[in-house]
Amino acid sequence: MTRSITILGATGSIGASTLDLVRRNPDEWQVEALTANCSALELARLAREFGAKLAVVGDETCLDDLRTALAETDIEAAGGAQALRDAAARPVDMTVAAIVGCAGLGPVMAAVERGGTIALANKEALVSAGEVLTAAVAKHGATLLPTDSEHNAIFQCLVGNDLQEVARITLTASGGPLRTWSTEQLKAATPEQAVAHPNWSMGAKISVDSATMMNKGLEFIEAHYLFPVGLERLRIVVHPQSVIHSMVEYRDRSTLAQLGPSDMRVPIASCLAWPKRMETPLDPLDLADIGELTFFAPDEERFPATRIAREAIHAGGSAPAILNAANEIAVAAFLEGQIGFMGITAVVEDTLARSSAASPRTLEDVLAIDAEARRSAQQSLGSKALV
Ligand code: NDP
Repeated sequence: MTRSITILGATGSIGASTLDLVRRNPDEWQVEALTANCSALELARLAREFGAKLAVVGDETCLDDLRTALAETDIEAAGGAQALRDAAARPVDMTVAAIVGCAGLGPVMAAVERGGTIALANKEALVSAGEVLTAAVAKHGATLLPTDSEHNAIFQCLVGNDLQEVARITLTASGGPLRTWSTEQLKAATPEQAVAHPNWSMGAKISVDSATMMNKGLEFIEAHYLFPVGLERLRIVVHPQSVIHSMVEYRDRSTLAQLGPSDMRVPIASCLAWPKRMETPLDPLDLADIGELTFFAPDEERFPATRIAREAIHAGGSAPAILNAANEIAVAAFLEGQIGFMGITAVVEDTLARSSAASPRTLEDVLAIDAEARRSAQQSLGSKALV
């Protein structure tokens, strides 16, 4: 039976992996809407290839290019933040939420409010709006399928079990490309070095997050909202091979782990086919070839991001949204050469120390906290101590 799908962030890394799976199963999917920020030509190419009904650019200044590229087709073109939300609100069987950053929150909320099934890759949306988003999921009867490889692993390890039986959830972290670098070396790390991930091929922002370990910090917060077992039951372990994607230990001391290739098509396929399974084009896991699986405790001296994220979620309220916004600003500044690698977590910590806001109750509250934290983080960037 054909199912309808909308992909938010179709021109990105997760978008490409999702569309690869759709391309291999053309009879199973009808593409409703595809979105991008400003990659209008690529979006138009994908919309034509997949016969999408609607293509949307988040940046309205790119709409003319999109319209031109879609001329003489029946594909509807739209632009702007509201158009992204309208696209996400269209009824479909599956929404893949793969916009990077808090920019994806509005569209995710629109999909939630229509009670949809959402494969959620856009972790920043959940970090910024954890309580607001999970309350909306419950209220509207939506289904969140965790697409982040770690959370998808946990989701799979929890099947058939009760959260109350869980003793511990362990998120694995590759440690990123700079895992073995000294603090002195880290201070001089360039954007090219930080995005050169040894195991995963991903967009620039999450690649930098992986290098700083903020990705694991964001995932710690994400896990707290997706699997509410209590913060004291969440752990992080560094596992450089990225073969075990995460683990759940039960109170009888039985630990279930999910293993697989380091390719996002595996967790995406798990979401697309859920609760069934589907084929992927990947080679079987060859453990004899891999040889060794190793594990280390995180080093929070060299990589303070997991500590900062843990403190933020313990503080609760607006802190996770502030952390996420400051990190987005700091990562962009690092990629543009404005601050050094160690400046990223310094800006985040400084912004958190200088910001306070009441706990967000609505989407608008979260977006206001996000906007204010971005302004505050911009000020931090200017501070000489942090450059
Ligand atoms: P990419 O940078 O590769 O792609 C991001 C997508 O979002 C693009 O389609 C981009 O459009 C769009 N986009 C960017 N900014 C905006 C905006 N302001 N408004 C609307 N659309 C926007 O990111 P990834 O695919 O790597 O990551 C997407 C999400 O998935 C992130 O939240 C990430 O943390 C998460 N994730 C990614 C993994 C991966 O392996 N890549 C693994 C696990 C989670 P355009 O092309 O026009 O810029």
